[in-house]
Amino acid sequence: MAQRKKINVKTQKAKLIAHREELERVGSTGADARRPVELDQTRVGRLSRMDALQDQAMALETDRRRGIEIKRIEAALKRIEDGEYGFCLSCGEDIPAERLELDPATPVCVDCAGD
Ligand SMILES: [Zn+2]
Repeated sequence: MAQRKKINVKTQKAKLIAHREELERVGSTGADARRPVELDQTRVGRLSRMDALQDQAMALETDRRRGIEIKRIEAALKRIEDGEYGFCLSCGEDIPAERLELDPATPVCVDCAGD
């Protein structure tokens, strides 16, 4: 049987931190889209107001997902600190290195993720 690929925790940590920084940077530039939609009927027609509301809803959704992703990354970083990184949170088995390289923040193995 082939030797199992060993995961490089240091590399994974660097990837996680870089990804978090990227998400946080995008978050601060998108701040404009989160301002309340103004009800200025003289300046914007009904249609464009609906567009604005839709844009805002999308921005909020993007924000929400970004928040979830940042939490996932922070949880993975904590597991690195605790020496628990690379083990499935659900069954305790090793998560294959290939899976962790694809998604360094993944908390579960393929079987437990069900995908
Ligand atoms: Zn598992």
